[in-house]
Amino acid sequence: MNVLIFGPNGSGKGTQGAVVQKKYNITHVESGVIFRENIKGGTELGKKAKEFIDRGDLVPDDITIPMILNRLKEKDCENGWLLDGFPRNSEQGKAMHEALEKENMKLDFVIEIILDREIAKKRIMGRRLCVNDNNHPNNIYIDAIKPAEKDGKMVCRVCGGELSARADDQDETAINKRHDIYYDTATGTLASVHYFKELSKKDSSIKVIELDGTPGVKEVSEELMGKLD
Ligand code: AMP
Repeated sequence: MNVLIFGPNGSGKGTQGAVVQKKYNITHVESGVIFRENIKGGTELGKKAKEFIDRGDLVPDDITIPMILNRLKEKDCENGWLLDGFPRNSEQGKAMHEALEKENMKLDFVIEIILDREIAKKRIMGRRLCVNDNNHPNNIYIDAIKPAEKDGKMVCRVCGGELSARADDQDETAINKRHDIYYDTATGTLASVHYFKELSKKDSSIKVIELDGTPGVKEVSEELMGKLD
C-alpha cells in the first residue's frame, strides 16, 4: 500500500497520516522529519538544508528529490509507504511520477486535506501547548477546544495545566511563506496535487480521497477511515 498525503500546515495532516500508517502498517516517510534529524545529527545534508528550512524556503530539488526517492527504496518501505511533505512542487511531482514508473511502484491513494488558508493560519497561531501533556488539545481560535480560564488566565481545558505557544507557531512570516508554497496552483504543492489527480483519471488503480479539514480532527479521521479500503 503506497500513499501520498497532502494538506497545508495547520490542517492536521500529521494526525491523519498517523491514522493511515497504523491502519496499513506502512512506513511513514516525512520529508520535514528527515531534514530535522539530519540537522540534529550534524550531517552534511543537515548543514546544507538548515539555512533554507530556517527561512521557511524549500530545500533545493537537487538535494530533496534524490533523498526521498532513495528513502522509498529502503527495506522498511517494501511493505508500503505513506509519503508526507513530498512532492511539494511541480518538479518534485514529475520526479515522483517518473520514479513510480521506473521502479514499477504502484500508487494506491492520494489523500488531500482541503482547508481554507486563513483557517489554517489561525489553527497554527492559535495552538497552545499544555505543560502536562502535549496531546491535550487547546486552541484559542477553535471554539470546540478553547482553553479554560482560571483567575483571569488561560489554562488547559483538559487538566487546568499551564499553557504556552511554540515559537515557530507564532512566526507569521515563516507561516505565510510556507502557505505561499502550498497554495500555489501554478508550480507549488497544489500544482502537484492537481498533477496526481489528473493521473488518477488515466489510471483507475489510483484512488483520490478529498477530505474537508474544517471539522475537528476526530471527525476528519472518521471520514478518512470510512473512505479507506
Ligand atoms: P515540514 O515539517 O513538512 O513543514 O517541513 C519543514 C521544512 O523542511 C520545510 O519548510 C522545508 O524547508 C523543508 N522541506 C520539507 N519537505 C520538503 C520538500 N519536499 N522539498 C523541499 N523542502 C522541504
